[in-house]
Amino acid sequence: MASELELEMQAIDRSLLECSAEEIAGKWLQATDLTREVYQHLAHYVPKIYCRSPNPCPQKEDMVAQHVLLAPMEWYLCGEDSEFGFPKLQQANKPSHLCGRVFKVGEPTYSCRDCAVDPTCVLCMDCFLGSIHRDHRYRMTTSGGGGFCDCGDTEAWKEGPYCQKHELNTSEIEEEEDPLVHLSEDVIARSYNIFTIMFQYAVEILTWEKESELPADLEMVEKSDTYYCMLFNDEVHTYEQVIYTLQKAVNCTQKEAIGFATTVDRDGRRSVRCGDFQYCEQAKSIIVRNTSSRQTKPLKVQVMHSSLVAHQSFGLKVLSWLGSVIGYSDGLRRILCQVGLQEGPDGENSSLVDRLMLSDSKLWKGARSVYHQLFMSSLLMDLKYKKLFAVRFAKNYQQLQRDFMEDDHERAVSVTALSVQFFTAPTLARMLITEENLMTIIIKTFMDHLRHRDTQGRFQFERYTALQAFKFRRVQSLILDLKYVLISKPTEWSDDLREKFLEGFDAFLELLKCMQGMDPITRQVGQHIEMEPEWEAAFTLQMKLTHVISMMQDWCALDEKVLIEAYKKCLTVLMQCHGGFTDGEQPITLSICGHSVETIRYCVSQEKVSIHLPVSRLLAGLHVLLSKSEVAYKFPELLPLSELSPPMLIEHPLRCLVLCAQVHAGMWRRNGFSLVNQIYYYHNVKCRREMFDKDIVMLQTGVSMMDPNHFLMIMLSRFELYQIFSTPDYGKRFSSEITHKDVVQQNNTLIEEMLYLIIMLVGERFSPGVGQVNATDDIKREIIHQLSIKPMAHSELVKSLPEDENKETGMESVIEAVAHFKKPGLTGRGMYELKPECAKEFNLYFYHFSRAEQSKAEEAQRKLKRQNREDTALPPPVLPPFCPLFASLVNILQSDVMLCIMRTILQWAVEHNGYAWSESMLQRVLHLIGMALQEEKQHLENVTEEHVVTFTFTQKISKPGEAPNNSPSILAMLETLQNAPYLEVHKDMIRWILKTFNAIKKLRESSSPSPVAETEGTIMEESSRDKDKAERKRKAEIARLRREKIMAQMSEMQRHFIDENKELFQQTLELDASASAVLDNSPVVSDKTLTALGPAQTQVPEQRQFVTCILCQEEQEVKVESKAMVLAAFVQRSTVLSKDRSKFIQDPEKYDPLFMHPDLSCGTHTGSCGHIMHAHCWQRYFDSVQAKEQRRQQRLRLHTSYDVENGEFLCPLCECLSNTVIPLLLPPRKIFNSRLNFSDQPNLTQWIRTISQQIKALQALGKEESTPHTTSSKNSENMDEFQLPEGFRPDFLPKNPYSESIKEMLKTFGTATYKVGLKVHPNEEDPRVPVMCWGSCAYTIQSLERILSDEDKPLFGPLPCRLDDCLRSLTRFAAAHWTVASLSVVQGHFSKLFASLVPDDNHGDLPCILDIDMFHLLVGLVLAFPALQCQDFSGTSLGTGDLHIFRLVTMAHIIQLLLTSCTEENGMDEESPAGEEESAVLALYKTLQQCTGSALKEVPPGWHLWRNVRAGILPFLKCSALFFHYLNGVPSPPEMQVSGASHFEHLCNYLSLPSNLVSLFQENNEITKSLIESWCHNIEVKRYLEGERDAISYPRESNKLIDLPEDYSSLINQASNFSCPKSGGDKSRAPTLCLVCGTLLCSQSYCCQTELEGEDVGACTAHTYSCGSGVGIFLRVRECQVLFLAGKTKGCFYSPPYLDDYGETDQGLRRGNPLHLCQERFKKIQKLWQQHSVTEEIGHAQEANQTLVGIDWQHL
Ligand SMILES: [Zn+2]
Ligand SMILES: [Zn+2]
Ligand SMILES: [Zn+2]
Ligand SMILES: [Zn+2]
Ligand SMILES: [Zn+2]
Ligand SMILES: [Zn+2]
Ligand SMILES: [Zn+2]
Repeated sequence: MASELELEMQAIDRSLLECSAEEIAGKWLQATDLTREVYQHLAHYVPKIYCRSPNPCPQKEDMVAQHVLLAPMEWYLCGEDSEFGFPKLQQANKPSHLCGRVFKVGEPTYSCRDCAVDPTCVLCMDCFLGSIHRDHRYRMTTSGGGGFCDCGDTEAWKEGPYCQKHELNTSEIEEEEDPLVHLSEDVIARSYNIFTIMFQYAVEILTWEKESELPADLEMVEKSDTYYCMLFNDEVHTYEQVIYTLQKAVNCTQKEAIGFATTVDRDGRRSVRCGDFQYCEQAKSIIVRNTSSRQTKPLKVQVMHSSLVAHQSFGLKVLSWLGSVIGYSDGLRRILCQVGLQEGPDGENSSLVDRLMLSDSKLWKGARSVYHQLFMSSLLMDLKYKKLFAVRFAKNYQQLQRDFMEDDHERAVSVTALSVQFFTAPTLARMLITEENLMTIIIKTFMDHLRHRDTQGRFQFERYTALQAFKFRRVQSLILDLKYVLISKPTEWSDDLREKFLEGFDAFLELLKCMQGMDPITRQVGQHIEMEPEWEAAFTLQMKLTHVISMMQDWCALDEKVLIEAYKKCLTVLMQCHGGFTDGEQPITLSICGHSVETIRYCVSQEKVSIHLPVSRLLAGLHVLLSKSEVAYKFPELLPLSELSPPMLIEHPLRCLVLCAQVHAGMWRRNGFSLVNQIYYYHNVKCRREMFDKDIVMLQTGVSMMDPNHFLMIMLSRFELYQIFSTPDYGKRFSSEITHKDVVQQNNTLIEEMLYLIIMLVGERFSPGVGQVNATDDIKREIIHQLSIKPMAHSELVKSLPEDENKETGMESVIEAVAHFKKPGLTGRGMYELKPECAKEFNLYFYHFSRAEQSKAEEAQRKLKRQNREDTALPPPVLPPFCPLFASLVNILQSDVMLCIMRTILQWAVEHNGYAWSESMLQRVLHLIGMALQEEKQHLENVTEEHVVTFTFTQKISKPGEAPNNSPSILAMLETLQNAPYLEVHKDMIRWILKTFNAIKKLRESSSPSPVAETEGTIMEESSRDKDKAERKRKAEIARLRREKIMAQMSEMQRHFIDENKELFQQTLELDASASAVLDNSPVVSDKTLTALGPAQTQVPEQRQFVTCILCQEEQEVKVESKAMVLAAFVQRSTVLSKDRSKFIQDPEKYDPLFMHPDLSCGTHTGSCGHIMHAHCWQRYFDSVQAKEQRRQQRLRLHTSYDVENGEFLCPLCECLSNTVIPLLLPPRKIFNSRLNFSDQPNLTQWIRTISQQIKALQALGKEESTPHTTSSKNSENMDEFQLPEGFRPDFLPKNPYSESIKEMLKTFGTATYKVGLKVHPNEEDPRVPVMCWGSCAYTIQSLERILSDEDKPLFGPLPCRLDDCLRSLTRFAAAHWTVASLSVVQGHFSKLFASLVPDDNHGDLPCILDIDMFHLLVGLVLAFPALQCQDFSGTSLGTGDLHIFRLVTMAHIIQLLLTSCTEENGMDEESPAGEEESAVLALYKTLQQCTGSALKEVPPGWHLWRNVRAGILPFLKCSALFFHYLNGVPSPPEMQVSGASHFEHLCNYLSLPSNLVSLFQENNEITKSLIESWCHNIEVKRYLEGERDAISYPRESNKLIDLPEDYSSLINQASNFSCPKSGGDKSRAPTLCLVCGTLLCSQSYCCQTELEGEDVGACTAHTYSCGSGVGIFLRVRECQVLFLAGKTKGCFYSPPYLDDYGETDQGLRRGNPLHLCQERFKKIQKLWQQHSVTEEIGHAQEANQTLVGIDWQHL
């Protein structure tokens, strides 16, 4: 690298190199006008260094600039070479205790929820790990870039401001020492000079606005005609637009265009063309023309002179240079701050800092971020100057915001984003409020930008243009600033602060005044509204202001004087808003029960009404504070209480609530969705605290100050229900006269809503100040009611609770008291469940329930009560007492009008006419009566001697109604209703009321000996009789329900047979013993030793097998000659077992799969769901799927979860992804093995000889045939010329025993395996087809063996049926496949495979035994053997051949093991005296040494060798046992069906091997030596032994997914350090980790797209092709999300293995709770991978969620 640069250096103008820093600095030290000297130097050199070619080469430029330009400055500054100067400065420096690390994009940041002053206070990872907060409740986020670590800032942290590294030495706490004392006078003076000049230079050149001129002192003498066409970034045009335009404008390739666009997006500008002026102008005009439209401005393009661009590049370099130089010394930093803030000659706003700030919006992105960074590392790191900077910032605030509104860049790259750095620092914020009147400035600036008002001066968003809407989004950041300023509350108040806060409060009230009554609506009658009115802007404003409004109240609460003043101001403004609200509205008089009140005529349903009432809501909030802080009692004289007019206070909130009721009653249907949405948000958790809740409080305030009868009458009038209740008998008339059902229904709903409102007014006393409660009680109650609906996860609960400005709900502190935590299982989340003892606090009419929640909660609570065998009444809970200011509220319950309402409704219920009442109405009345009773009971219980209980509800309800109608008493009516058959559901509640009534009466009696009412006895009797009846009824009901359920289940089962089964089948892949396991379904064989192969193979009686087709439901026997039955199957390539991921099939057309390399780098796996069909049924099904999909794709152009063109389909039963079918077969060996006797069988030596002869004969014949002139007749003549081995008849062609349909299926599956495994076009004639079939069989068995071993499961333990069926079918299929292949091809394969162990002359370059996977070899040989054996009539059986093949391969494997066994463990003592095995293996090893010419290392101890052989060969033996088991159908020995020891002996017995394996060599010693010699005399073996190459050693370890760290943040950190490998050091936006190999990739980004098979694909898809042959498992680090990919079109997201303490994942990292690895879940993912189920999982996910199909997976 360096040398390359040096070369380039030489190419640069010689004069540049001749510069000596010392010389130049020397000249400068002498200079009288230093500025001029330096400028001359720059003017001369800068254009020579920068912008010398069309494409920037920053590395080279910066290097030369360092040498020629910066080095002299450094020399000048230090007075010596900076190499020595800077370290000296650094040494003398007393470093600041602030960390100040500036965050990179994606870097993890930490905030402590216990100690951070506000959530913007964050730590970098290093500081966090060294702080006390790591044991606190912390929150983790990834930085969006910008911002810095607050470690060391004592104002940011309530506790633990320092990490270990930045801890102040306690001895060293010298307050505010001037850092300049550590510098010499000279250095100070010189730095001051050079900083001034260079800072000045940078600011001047960067803010320079002319395009082809330079500042006079930098202008050059001779100016070239070189220009740049500079393209600037904006946020309006898309990437694609820019790329497209550039291709047109500057004639570049798409790749180049992408490069330009990426740089423009990142740096804010990029030159796209370089040349003479004309040439650049031309490109500019094309770009401008192509990107402008009516709506949008064109892209910004400038044609700039090259020297200007050069100076600007250097200007940026200077700023970062300054940033790095001040890093050496706090003193230098202070000097730079001073230089920056020094006022220039033009007075106000002329300092360099001011100038930069004020031209911020004119600068391009790259320039901005460079100077912002400099500010952060200088001004913000020096506490003295931070303050001065803050003042400058505040003074320029309005202008900066104005610029920002016009700017079209995101806020993150605007200087206004720095506000968080000052405003959240408490002392700074306080200072800015008092000295710069910051609060007022912010609010006024905000108001300035929202100018659109209606005639009443209220905000109007109705006719917003797109531009105004855009600005509106921008001004919202001002609210954020206001929030920052208010976030830390003052502990002390100065008079100044009071004054300025109240001034700000005034401004704030002005703002709220503009919102009061905005977006008014009128009920639409007749026809629908034509256009949905704009409503979102107003609600956005309200939502953003919610926290500010709350914080304003919090501030007021802290100081009594402020509170009183604020209250007064707020009241005044409210009165202004309501100014003359009675004007023009007629007064009317209402009267009921002898009470009368004056009010106005106003109908919500006819006049304008608005949901926005922030002023009255703020007043409500302040009123509660008066009550809470007791200011109301302490200084009543200071408060304008007399000015309060309760009817005025309640009027607007009441209208708003009535509006909600009417909307619910369906009266506003024609107003469309905008109104429905507004009502929704009014109650929503994000808004309700400062909307709905405060309206309730305001009503409570009003009612507590007025006669409840009056209030109720006004309320009836506003609900438009006054007529109904003021006219006796109205109900009767109403039902008989009015036939309009809608109106009746409407009125019923309105009555219900009104009763609900009364319940809320009396019952909602959990705001501190309204009731005698604290904040904890409030939050507890919220949680209790949420959990009454259902158990909830932590995040769900958090979402349902309001957050404060610090994003806290306060839930953690109380949750333990009200709920139990239940940990999550392997899926799902941890859940909180309500403690049973909290159920009694349940209030059915809790005001934050939505209607759906209310009914769910009711159902859940009743169910709970039934389970506990309690009655199902849900009486109102006992409530806390009101605060004195609100105490009179309870009197509503016993007011005459209330009693009248109750009586009327009960009367309706008693009369039970179908129209005029509803059950909900009655239920609410009962609830209200219950509340009144609870109230009275409490009053009685807490009564003190001197007080009289004034709450006498029980007495009032015992009295009958008055004349004229003389209705019965409420109590009497309740008694009547108790027996009403139509009120079964409410019986328990009525009974509860009567019981409580009696209890109260007893209480009263005990306190006052007054006579008792008479009804008691009858009630008691009634109720016990009732109980019996109810119990019987309940039982009958349960029985009925059970019957119904069963019936329903049955019909369900009939209808959805498939659906039912689907679930069952989906779970079956789990290899658990509990799974639908079938042990061994082969017939029972007598207890003797079982042998799986060879002449002694255990003979199993024939068993007939019947199967049912899932498609036609017909049963059929599996037979050789019958129609084929098939299993749905999925064949895929696999690298799961691969030991070398860098290897993949390069040229599939030429690839020879005959020998599998022991690295198993690319296998073919077959899986199946085990569902059986007729071949013809499947064919029909598949054809119809194909036809359907083709039609669908034409019509909708949709993807599906499966690719029909590639033969994919879903299993018709379980929807499992499949791409072929396997035929079901009987054990194929039996069919060919029946014709011979087994009496006299050859031994291994003889057998090898025979086979070799047979092969030789075949080869000779083959040669003959291939010579063109011979005919078949000559052929037979020639045959006599060889010595044909005895009984060998090569002309014999065996008859294929299978039916046509089976033969066809054999070909189908064989072709599919070939096509998928090699990724080639199907060709059933290809000689590689049989090889691929054998390979898939071997590979699938090997992968099962690995899974079983990894999980310590027994080899023949219970397997899920689908796996068992799949392996059996696959093995039998592979064994039968030769019957449909060409005999000579299979014979050829056999001879070649055979030659790898027994060399012959015809096969030269076969792989050496180190490079052959022995199990694949075994399977190939065994399955190809019948093709040879079928022509052998000498009497040698197939079984004999199997046995000899197996022994031969085993011997080769032992040699392979001995050659590769690692012998490093020397020095260990011999474990036991040498046994038979040990000496045998030692002897063998010595033979081996001889054969290899002593290249083998010295002889290790025998026990060691034997141990290695045993361990190494075990997987091979296990695989072989599985293979022969499925091939021959011999049941497995019972010992091997249970886990335990290694079963080595059992394995050997089952496989007909001696347990001393080495004795195989001794038994066959005639050929042993020659075989070993032939194996060892291979050049590759020699190379290996001489250490020139590697070989796989045994046993091969199982592949696992990579290890993941326990703490998720270390992954984030790792990813934040990862940069895109293609775009030179850029941070990757979507770093993604391959869980298979651990590679980090730059996903989902243009930069890392590559071409794969002619298509552009993202980094992940490209990676899957090399790492997982198309299948990939990734972790998207920023999103904390697992990604599964298969091929280019398939993918899904999967839940990550990281959980927070509440047992939840955090996909998208939105919550930021600390995340820890959950081993069980990670294992589950690993298992999916090892079982080859990833593709299947994707299929299921895509079927379940169709939107997944539409995602462009290939671009990830
Ligand atoms: Zn830090
Ligand atoms: Zn620190
Ligand atoms: Zn902490
Ligand atoms: Zn069928
Ligand atoms: Zn299936
Ligand atoms: Zn990239
Ligand atoms: Zn990988």
